[in-house]
Amino acid sequence: MSVDSTINPRTGMDVDSFREDIKQHLHYTLAKDKFSSTDWDQYRSVVLAVMDRLHDRWINTQQSYYQNESKRVYYLSMEYLIGRLMDNMLINLGMQDVAAEAIEEIGFDYDKVREAEVDAGLGNGGLGRLAACFLDSMATLGVPALGYGIRYDYGIFDQDIEDGWQVEKPDMWLQYGYPWSVVRPKKKYTVQFYGDTTASEDGNGRLHYDWVNTHNVTALAYDTPIPGFQNDVVNNLRLWKATSDEGFDLKSFNQGDYIEAVRSNLLEENISRVLYPNDKVFKGQELRLKQEYFLVSASLQDAMNRFKKQFDDLRKIPDQMAIQCNDTHPNLAVPELMRMLMDLEGLEWEPAWDIVSQTINYTNHTLMPEALEKWPLSLMSNLLPRHVQIIREIDRRFLNSIDISGDDRNKKNRMRVISNEMDARVRMGNLGIIGAKRVNGVSELHSDLMKKTIFKDFADHYPEKFTNVTNGITPRRWLRQCNRELADLISDRIGDDWVTHLDQLQEVEHFAEDEKFQSEFKVIKLRNKQKLADYIKDTMGVTVDAESIFDIQIKRIHEYKRQLMALMHAITLYNRIKNDPNADIEPRTLLFAGKAAPGYTMAKLHIKLINSVAEVINNDPEVAPKLKVLFLPDYSVTLAEKMIPAANLSEQISTAGMEASGTGNMKFALNGALTIGTLDGANIEIREQVGKDNIFIFGHTVDEIEDVRAQGYNPQKIYESDEELKQVIDQIHDGYFSPDNPNLFHPITNALLNQGDYFMVLADYRKYVEKQEEVEANYRDEFDWNRKAIINVANMGHFSSDRSIKDYCERIWDVEVSQ
Ligand SMILES: *Cc1c(COP(=O)(O)O)cnc(C)c1O
Repeated sequence: MSVDSTINPRTGMDVDSFREDIKQHLHYTLAKDKFSSTDWDQYRSVVLAVMDRLHDRWINTQQSYYQNESKRVYYLSMEYLIGRLMDNMLINLGMQDVAAEAIEEIGFDYDKVREAEVDAGLGNGGLGRLAACFLDSMATLGVPALGYGIRYDYGIFDQDIEDGWQVEKPDMWLQYGYPWSVVRPKKKYTVQFYGDTTASEDGNGRLHYDWVNTHNVTALAYDTPIPGFQNDVVNNLRLWKATSDEGFDLKSFNQGDYIEAVRSNLLEENISRVLYPNDKVFKGQELRLKQEYFLVSASLQDAMNRFKKQFDDLRKIPDQMAIQCNDTHPNLAVPELMRMLMDLEGLEWEPAWDIVSQTINYTNHTLMPEALEKWPLSLMSNLLPRHVQIIREIDRRFLNSIDISGDDRNKKNRMRVISNEMDARVRMGNLGIIGAKRVNGVSELHSDLMKKTIFKDFADHYPEKFTNVTNGITPRRWLRQCNRELADLISDRIGDDWVTHLDQLQEVEHFAEDEKFQSEFKVIKLRNKQKLADYIKDTMGVTVDAESIFDIQIKRIHEYKRQLMALMHAITLYNRIKNDPNADIEPRTLLFAGKAAPGYTMAKLHIKLINSVAEVINNDPEVAPKLKVLFLPDYSVTLAEKMIPAANLSEQISTAGMEASGTGNMKFALNGALTIGTLDGANIEIREQVGKDNIFIFGHTVDEIEDVRAQGYNPQKIYESDEELKQVIDQIHDGYFSPDNPNLFHPITNALLNQGDYFMVLADYRKYVEKQEEVEANYRDEFDWNRKAIINVANMGHFSSDRSIKDYCERIWDVEVSQ
C-alpha cells in the first residue's frame, strides 16, 4: 500500500491521514478489505485509528503527572456505566467531522460504524453513570485522576420483554473483544482471601501481624484511555480482571487430579464474572464481598506502588493521593490501607490512622436503609480475618473516643462499626465515616437529610467531615454528542465555549422569546421526536405521533421512583377519553424504559402492568389517536441518548426524600424538556436555577410526608373519596388489563390499599393529575412552552459534572484545577 508522504497515518488529525490509518488497520491489523469487512471490522479499524491518536497524549499525560509529582485522585467505583465510546472519543479529540468524512470516503457508513459498538454497561444506573461522567470531567479539567473498577465479563443484563414480562439475558459485551482497552499483562497484583492471622514479636517488642495460608487471586489490569475535551489530556480507567495466574494448584496436580486443579482456577476467575444487578439494595452475598475487596486491594496496591516509586516518607501520602469511594462498596479501603501501612510498611496504629483518615473519602448515595451495606461479621471474619481484627480495633478506639462525652448507650450502639446484635454486622457506612476525611451527599437536600437522619449522630460528632457535592452530567455526551443539532444551534448564537463552561448557556436565555431561535429550536425538537418515532417503528412496530407530547420516564424501575403513578395518570386519561370520546385531551405519548433487579418481584410486576395497560390503550381505536403508552426494552446509555433529546416532558416524580439526587432530571432539562417533579433530590436545585414558573412541581414535601405519616396515613380513605382514582385502582385490581388472569396485579393494589402505600402514590395522585392538566394547557401555548424549554436549557450550567468535580477538588481532594 503506497502512502502519500505528506500525511501521517498514525497521528495526523486530518481527513487523509485518518482515512489511511483506518485502511491500514483494516488491512494490516485485521486482514480485511472493504469488500470482506463486516460492520464490526469497520468499527474496529476506526477504533484502532482513534487509539493511535490517543496513545501519544495518554503517555505524555501520565509522564507529566509523574514529573510534576502531581497529587493523584483515585476514584474507586464498583460501577462504570460507560455506554459507547466512539463518538465521545472523537468529539473529545476534536475530530468527529474529520472522522465522519474519512469514514465516508472509504465507503463505510458512519452511522453503521457507530451502531456496531457495544454499550459498555458495567453499572446499574445513576451511580455508575455518575462515575462515567466524572471520568470525562476529571480529564477535561486536567485533574490527575485514575478510575479503578472491575472488568466484569458480563455487565448489566440485557432486558427482553416477553409477553410483557422482563426476561434477563446475559450481556456478552466482550464476545468480540473490546478495542478501547489495552491489557497490561505484567501489571498484576495478588489479592488474598481467607487464611489466618499470626502475631509475632518483632525485635522491638512490638506485635507484628501476618496474614497467612491465604487463597490467592491475581488482579490483571485493563486500561482504557479517557481523553479530556480538546485539551490533550488523557487519563486512565483501570479495570481489574480476576485471573488465576499462580498456575495450577501443584498439590492436587501431583496427586493426579488435573481436572480439579484447572477447575479451581475457574473459581478464582468467578470474582470478576458478573456485575450484581441490584440498584440500591444490599444482598449479603460472599461473592459480592470478594468483588469489593478485590477492587480495593488491587487498586490500593497499585496506588501505593506508584507512590513508593517517587516518595519514601509515608506521611506524604495524604499530600500525594486522595481516594474517593463511590458509595460504601469500596469502604474496605479504610482497613486495607491500615493493614498495608502497619503490616507491610511497619507503621504504628496512630501514624497509620492519621494517614488513612486524611486520604480516604466516602460519597453516600442514598438514605434508604436497605442500601447501606451491613456485612455479617462471621462471613467477613472468614474471608478477611486480618481486616476484621483491624475493624474491631477501629471500633474499640472509636467507642473509647466518644466515651468521655456520652453515656447514651443507644447512641453508641448506633454509631459503632460492629453492631452489637446477636448476629453482629460490620456497618460499612459507619466504617466509611469514621475512617474518612470527608463524607458527602449528592444534592443539597440529600446532604441535609443525611445529617438530620441516618448520620445525625455522626454529623453532631464530626460536623467538619460532612459536605455536599451536587451531582452533575457531562455536557459533552449529554448535549454535544446526543443532540448535535441543538448543540450547533446554541454554538451558532453564543459560540462554543459552553461545552467546557456550561454556565455560558445563560446567554441562551436572551433568545427565549426570539422568534427565529424558537422556530429553529422547535424544528430540532420535532426532528428528534421523529427520529425516536422511527426507532420505535423499526424496533417495536408501533406508530407514534411525533406531534404529540413526548412524556418520558426512563430510569431503574423502583417503587420509590413511582413509575406506577405515571401509569395511573395514563389510565386516568384513558378513562376520560372512554367516557367522552370528544374530551379535549392533548395527544400524548407516554414512554417508559428501565430495568428491574431480577429479584425485585414488585418492580417486575410494574413492568408487566405497564405493558398490559399499553396493550389495552394502544389497541383501542377510540383512544390510540390521543394516547399511546410504550415500554421500550433494554434501557441503557445508548437508549437514553436516543430518548432524552426527543422529550417534551421529563418525569421526576419520586416520593420526596427518597431520590438522593437524580441525574436523568438534569439530562432532560439540558435537552429542552420541561420537568414534572416532586421537591426531591436535585429537582429542588433545578427549580432554583430555572425558576419556579418554568418547572411543574407538585406533591408532598419531605416535611409534609413526615406529618402525614405521623398523623397516620390512610390510603383507603383517599381511594374512597376520589372517584377517578378509585376507578383506576379497581381496573388494575379487577383484571381490566389482565382479563386472562384477573388477580395478576393484586400485589400492586394490595401494596397501595392494604399495606400502607409506603411510597405515598395515593397521597400525591390527585395533585399529580392536576399538574398534568397544567402541563397540557401550557403545551398548547407553543410559544410559552418553548420559551420555558429554552430557559431550562439556559440555566443548566450548575449541573455540569465539571462543576461537581471542581467542588470535589475544593471541598474534598485539595487539588488545584488548572483548566
Ligand atoms: C442518567 C442515567 C441513569 C440515572 O437516571 P435517574 O433518572 O437519575 O435515576 C440511569 N441509567 C442510565 C442509562 C442513565 O443514563
